Amino acid sequence: MVAGSQAICHQDFFCPWFQVGMATSWGSLLEDEQQLEELAQQAVDRALAEGVLLRTSQDPTSSNVVSYAPFTLFPSLVPSALLEQAYAVQKDFNLLVDAVSQNSAFLEQTLSSTIKRDSFTARLFDIHRQVLKEGIAQTVFLGLNRSDYMFQRRADGSPALKQIEINTISASFGGLASRTPAVHRHVLNVLGKTGEAAKILSNNPSQGLALGIATAWELYGCANAVVLLIAQEKERNIFDQRAIENELLAKNIHVIRRRFEDVSKNGSLDQDRRLFMDGQEVAVVYFRDGYMPSQYSPQNWEARLLLEKSRAAKCPDIATQLAGTKKVQQELSRVGVLEELLPGQPEAVARLRATFAGLYSLDMGEEGDRAIAEALAAPSQFVLKPQREGGGNNLYGEEMVQALVRLKDSEERASYILMEKIEPEPFGNCLLRPGSPTHVVQCISELGIFGVYVRQGQTLVMNKHVGHLLRTKAIEHADGGVAAGVAVLDNPYPV
Ligand code: ADP
Ligand code: MG
Repeated sequence: MVAGSQAICHQDFFCPWFQVGMATSWGSLLEDEQQLEELAQQAVDRALAEGVLLRTSQDPTSSNVVSYAPFTLFPSLVPSALLEQAYAVQKDFNLLVDAVSQNSAFLEQTLSSTIKRDSFTARLFDIHRQVLKEGIAQTVFLGLNRSDYMFQRRADGSPALKQIEINTISASFGGLASRTPAVHRHVLNVLGKTGEAAKILSNNPSQGLALGIATAWELYGCANAVVLLIAQEKERNIFDQRAIENELLAKNIHVIRRRFEDVSKNGSLDQDRRLFMDGQEVAVVYFRDGYMPSQYSPQNWEARLLLEKSRAAKCPDIATQLAGTKKVQQELSRVGVLEELLPGQPEAVARLRATFAGLYSLDMGEEGDRAIAEALAAPSQFVLKPQREGGGNNLYGEEMVQALVRLKDSEERASYILMEKIEPEPFGNCLLRPGSPTHVVQCISELGIFGVYVRQGQTLVMNKHVGHLLRTKAIEHADGGVAAGVAVLDNPYPV
């Protein structure tokens, strides 16, 4: 036990260590600096033992030296009702993404102004068009996504679940999120808070993600085929990916890790458009690369096209990647669009719409002009987003104002969307990072729910939610995730 924790427990018994509702923190526990320091050491050692690991930024290509992935000392309080709501809408989001990906007319119309000005989206769209023209060889479709939310503070102080975005490619941290509950249980057990420790939810997204891959692999129907994981050369988050690979190997499904460059050199299609890598047939292609412009050389674009043309189940296929763009997210919030995409499912539509924040098109015209005027009048209430993934691309505050003034009269503005800025209630926690001192900072959290679906032809074979990810960051950072070095791993403590 950490010195002094006994006294704190006793005290806590009489005065609750948090209040449900507004103040969402661990109260007096955050005040004893020496105790926090000792607890942090125990937490870090447990994180290392559990495999909550990253490669280092100095040596991102090898696992010779590794460190712990940053995480919070305490789990952060999340209202159970919002957690349940996020889980309850996940299957609807799976259906929606799948519906958008199959609706080429909707994608074409939605992205038409964006692809005139955004070369990355345009390039993805070219591949989409080309594959459609040649006819889609793929018959098994696999979606592994993560829908992310923040908890908007309403006027009456109560929190509301609002979607930030949905990630349809390379949604990460399902592996590490499986290992962090043990760390937070450990911290609470050290404090003698066994009842609280037992409230930390078990979580195993990597198992569910692997089940989706395994199901697609099986439906592909070739016992010797492998799963091809498209990897980056420098991958700090290797242990997150290995968690999924390990689950697959336990099912006797082999994963080969290759880069786009390897696909260019050693990948090929036979006359039935079966994909072969180094002579091995590939049933499923799982992308952990290919979501940012910098990840594509001309050669890599060729490799992506080859993969897309193949019969292998791509996770995601190019249409599903496009369905995850911010422009699509914004168009989905337009009156009547959900109803058109999910006909006869008014309950799903209502669940989905309840999570939408304000989203505004910046296409040329009156509607876009009005959105820009509103954002310029109240900059703190908006976020400007380009069609990019991976964190650190959005613009806020003064930077947003400058960008809007510059873009106002240019068609380039169509490559962005405007979004209502979500303002959660901040709370205190310690963010533990290698080499950083332990101290309490004001934080906000972002909750992600992992979704998995598999479709064979027109038959939906699987549609599930498979776990969650809570990430927490200091309030002074507007943008950025764990990989960007801003947010840290966390667990929801349901209240
Ligand atoms: P990316 O694809 O780069 O992850 P996101 O839309 O998820 O883009 O934005 C990155 C980060 O910026 C989020 O994790 C969140 O911290 C912050 N953010 C994005 N949109 C909003 C918003 N509407 N309100 C408040 N913060 C936001
Ligand atoms: Mg994001």
